[in-house]
Amino acid sequence: MIPPIANRFVAGESPAEALEHVRQLNDHNVKAIVNLLGEHYDERDPVEADAAEYRRLVADIAGSGLEGCISVKPSQLGLDLGEDVFRAELADIVDAAAEHGVFVWVDMEDHTTTDATLDAFEAFAHEYGGGVGICVQANLRRTRADVRRLADVPGKVRFVKGAYDPSSDVAYTDSARIDREYRDLLEYAFEHYDGGIGVGSHDPAMIERAKALHERHGTEFEIQMLMGVREDTQYELADEYEVWQYVPYGDRWLSYFYRRVMERRENLRFAFRAVLSG
Ligand code: FAD
Repeated sequence: MIPPIANRFVAGESPAEALEHVRQLNDHNVKAIVNLLGEHYDERDPVEADAAEYRRLVADIAGSGLEGCISVKPSQLGLDLGEDVFRAELADIVDAAAEHGVFVWVDMEDHTTTDATLDAFEAFAHEYGGGVGICVQANLRRTRADVRRLADVPGKVRFVKGAYDPSSDVAYTDSARIDREYRDLLEYAFEHYDGGIGVGSHDPAMIERAKALHERHGTEFEIQMLMGVREDTQYELADEYEVWQYVPYGDRWLSYFYRRVMERRENLRFAFRAVLSG
């Protein structure tokens, strides 16, 4: 069982608990991006086990009639073992997901994986005519070019500021500069993309930017936030916009919880307050 405080950010250890959380979210008109926690496997067994669970999960999401999709990590699907392993596992998941009409996001990990991740995404997006999405990180210097490259690729693109801390030769490290990049990337996407924009940010300024760009260009977009972060805002936004919550689950929850706390100490304070207020 996930202990109090951590359970604000992680939906449970089992798929059943994750789907129960999705059901509750759907009652608030919020859809779910379900992620089985796991990354950087250096053996084939956990890769195969997680891939098999994702294939069952897409069937369960479709079978339960819930509004949900999945998000996978390349290193969870064996990228550290080889690009061929990652692509083979991703292919089986995308196949199963397409069969059940469930969308598949591919998270973006550290910058050494960007090329392999983008290449795989592009190949699958063309093969399946959409049905898959990729994440791009505003803090990477290369991302402007990547975002232009993705303009003609089917599927969706999630824009985030970047959760990793790459060095200044490949990334912007100043938060004001990253915010500026994020705004510019959104501007480009709303102008040149044919919908399929995921605004993966809790930042009120970025959400406002996206809303204004939507007004100006009419381009469709969705707002994506993490479980446990600004949930009241997620429910409010869902009255007017398409909102998706990223819902992690699984028994490897400790390091994910640790990251959320380190990323923002207030997360811990908010969570304590929520527990104390019942
Ligand atoms: P920040 O720059 O952290 O904060 C800006 C403002 O947002 C704050 O001043 C505050 O007003 C508000 N805010 C932020 N956090 C909180 C909080 N906890 N409580 C209240 N207000 C808050 N990164 C990757 O590298 N790869 C991925 O694949 C990836 N996928 C993601 C998927 C989703 C759905 C989301 C939401 C994020 C994902 N990220 C990913 C993480 C992302 O890169 C950022 O690290 C993370 O979202 C923090 O940046 P931010 O834009 O939310 O706001």
